[in-house]
Amino acid sequence: MSCIFCKIIDKEIPSDTLFEDENFVAFHDINPKAPVHILVIPKKHYQSFQDMPSDLMAKMTTFIQRLSLKLGVDKSGYRLITNIGENGGQEVPHIHFHLLGGAKLKWEHFTDADPKNMF
Ligand code: AMP
Repeated sequence: MSCIFCKIIDKEIPSDTLFEDENFVAFHDINPKAPVHILVIPKKHYQSFQDMPSDLMAKMTTFIQRLSLKLGVDKSGYRLITNIGENGGQEVPHIHFHLLGGAKLKWEHFTDADPKNMF
């Protein structure tokens, strides 16, 4: 059974898609956390960044840089996040980058664990 983002790629379920090319799709997050909150995914299924081939990642970099220009956030700035696995808080097991922007973003503690207790 294909994952929810594969279903978006196959247009089995609708999405508010902004841009796509032969390798990637960019669409609005259904539960936005900032004025601009876009998800960028590869059309080929990889579970997370941990599985992403570096040559495809290089193409994704270019796609996201172009997307930032189209969104008009390239100068104002934005944040890219990819959550990986359980501790990373990943909910959808198809690698995706969150592109967040459109306002000054906050930067707060990510965990109740002591950040000074590093290994
Ligand atoms: P993550 O926790 O990094 O796996 O993030 C998953 C993201 O996917 C969340 O921000 C959700 O709001 C978003 N999401 C889940 N289902 C959909 C959908 N059908 N269309 C758009 N965004 C979705």
